[in-house]
Amino acid sequence: MALIVQKYGGTSVGNPERIKNVARRVAAAQAAGDQIVVVVSAMSGETNRLIGLAKEVQSTPDPRELDVVVSTGEQVTIGLLCMALMAQGVKARSYTGAQVRILTDSSFTKARILKIDEDRMRKDLDEGHVVVVAGFQGVDDAGNITTLGRGGSDTTGVALAAALRADECQIYTDVDGVYTTDPRIVPEARKLDRITFEEMLEMASLGSKVLQIRSVEFAGKYKVKLRVLSSFQEGGEGTLITFEDDLKMEQPIISGIAFNRDEAKLTVLGVPDRPGIAYQILGPIAEANIDVDMIIQNVSFDGTTDFSFTVNRNDYERTLKILDEVKAHVGAREVRADRSMAKVSVVGVGMRSHVGIASKMFRTLAEEGINIQMISTSEIKISVAIDEKYLELAVRVLHKAFELDQVVA
Ligand code: ASP
Ligand code: MG
Repeated sequence: MALIVQKYGGTSVGNPERIKNVARRVAAAQAAGDQIVVVVSAMSGETNRLIGLAKEVQSTPDPRELDVVVSTGEQVTIGLLCMALMAQGVKARSYTGAQVRILTDSSFTKARILKIDEDRMRKDLDEGHVVVVAGFQGVDDAGNITTLGRGGSDTTGVALAAALRADECQIYTDVDGVYTTDPRIVPEARKLDRITFEEMLEMASLGSKVLQIRSVEFAGKYKVKLRVLSSFQEGGEGTLITFEDDLKMEQPIISGIAFNRDEAKLTVLGVPDRPGIAYQILGPIAEANIDVDMIIQNVSFDGTTDFSFTVNRNDYERTLKILDEVKAHVGAREVRADRSMAKVSVVGVGMRSHVGIASKMFRTLAEEGINIQMISTSEIKISVAIDEKYLELAVRVLHKAFELDQVVA
């Protein structure tokens, strides 16, 4: 008998019919002889609605109270799913995060899981129940309700699978797996049967929204066997997220093209080139909790240099304001900004053992007249920042150039 954690996202439980559909799937999985723990999100749109309500009442909602409000979305779906299961003759029991005791730190709206009590779930499972747990939430050691950040139900699913040493964590969503790139941009995009955990981590951090990035980190750390599948399809295998050592076959060199539209570039021109400058520019940005992504510093000829970096577009105004102060402070000439940037990345563990990937990427973009403004690399990815208006074209030509539309034998 296997123990399976199944997580269903907001669209999969978006209305009563769909909740009944999920119940049918869960019932079938249990009837096949496995023990099932289910994690659910709030019904689609519900978390946004609750955040909207909070903002109508308090323009910047108090984080503790915001968590009290938004965590209710998942409380509704666990109850409804249990009712649907019971209506189908399945024994089921629901728990909020606090009831299980998913213990987190006290960082409201972005809490981290510290510990999960498994006793209650084990007891229910042994008695033949399906256990249904609210995603996205926990409780701190003072008893305050916390939430794990948007998309956090994925992390709940993986964390429960780790705590229960489940045989597999299945993430059910509205797509049938992880694709070589977004099929809305490239219709030839293929579903991947497997992707390594490291590639998935890059894809998730680069804007592929299938899994919350923290859930992927968690799966990597605790070696949770993770699979992404569709809740609307019968019998698909989805995409299995594997560990490189498990792969016996030769891997394709590139697994996918990831992208992120919402980038902004800031450049500080004419900065005196001396030790401590990068810190003086980026220190205040970090203090404001703004994530900096790509960074470039030019060589200097006349004792001054130019310094550019990208941030998420949401942080653009705040960053610009900080830089205006920094400019005066470090004696820079000028600050320039471009808020319509995009980032495109090719990702693949095969890059480690192959040369010429970067040049192929750059040539492909050059042939389309797409100007590369910044470049950053890691062992398994190459990212470029380009003008947002070329994003879709870039993704399409790269997908083709790296033959991702072709099925590997
Ligand atoms: N309901 C939460 C959200 O919309 C958590 C989740 O769905 O994973 O972000
Ligand atoms: Mg999600």
